[in-house]
Amino acid sequence: MSYPKGILLRQSFSEKLLAWWDHHGRKDLPWQQNKTSYRVWVSEIMLQQTQVTTVIPYFERFMATFPSVQDLANAQEDKVLHLWTGLGYYSRARNLHKAARLVAEKFEGNFPTDLDTMQELPGVGRSTAGAVLSISQDQQTAIMDGNVKRVLSRYLAIKDWPGTPSVTKQLWSVAERYTPKTRNADYTQAIMDLGATVCKRSKPICSICPFQTDCKANLEGLTQIIPASKPKKDKPSKQTWMLMIQLADGRTELQKRPATGIWASLYSFPEFDSEESLRDFVATRYGDQTLQVWQSFRHTFSHYHLDITPVLLRLDHETISEANAIWYNPTLADEEVGLAAPVKKLISKLKF
Ligand code: SF4
Repeated sequence: MSYPKGILLRQSFSEKLLAWWDHHGRKDLPWQQNKTSYRVWVSEIMLQQTQVTTVIPYFERFMATFPSVQDLANAQEDKVLHLWTGLGYYSRARNLHKAARLVAEKFEGNFPTDLDTMQELPGVGRSTAGAVLSISQDQQTAIMDGNVKRVLSRYLAIKDWPGTPSVTKQLWSVAERYTPKTRNADYTQAIMDLGATVCKRSKPICSICPFQTDCKANLEGLTQIIPASKPKKDKPSKQTWMLMIQLADGRTELQKRPATGIWASLYSFPEFDSEESLRDFVATRYGDQTLQVWQSFRHTFSHYHLDITPVLLRLDHETISEANAIWYNPTLADEEVGLAAPVKKLISKLKF
């Protein structure tokens, strides 16, 4: 592996970064207090694809409900998904729950202490395993989250998209080379903080960065084009019609979705692939009814757009429903089920 001329040696890089962090880094985040592998692991999973400010209240609720990995392992999946509602990427919550059960059963409640075993946990890849071992156990393990990719790509002026396999390999090699032998937990927190607060995606504040005189992207005026964006593919779009059956007392029918696929194990309205099939269903089951067709809106997943048309049917009283269905009461705080974000939004708009 060859490195561009002029980049800092490990010691200089980590010393500069730690000196900056000692003065400017974040040290009062909830998962930085009472640091255990369990708390750090939960925070790292929540922080994947999600901003710190969004995560904080979710993390605090999660810890208040499941203070230990054993509590999480003992929980019902619906309750875990309920506490995740609104945070998105629900496979994270399902994997968190499965991993807690594995830690409780296979490892007798103790988190793994080496990188390979840590990666046996569902939802834990090389970077998350490295972050947990580094932050909670001060091990010399590297990480490669979005912040680190951005800082190192700019620092080295790597113009290709960081997700390209050869670039990913190069970034890991540099990350491992720079990860210090001591104060590793602080270093890991520091590089994440630098990426989140200084080396920001759209407007890096190079004038206050500890690397302003060594960073190649800054010296060569390339910060706006590095890191390169992921090459765009046109996303396909799909359509769905959601039937919102609402009773006079405000309850609404929700069905539990299959354990695999989008919104797996979450609760959603009954769905149809056309307005015609929805109307046929209503006519067959409930006879002649008035339906209110709401404005369609788009929900975007990582791999496609979903155009949703909500259709409201008001009924006077409860009727037979599917085995996987519940009559959900949005006014009861103890309705502990996970809801997909668009479903939660629609429920909040239902008046009664
Ligand atoms: S000098 Fe600017 S671009 Fe380079 S690491 Fe610092 S903030 Fe990022």
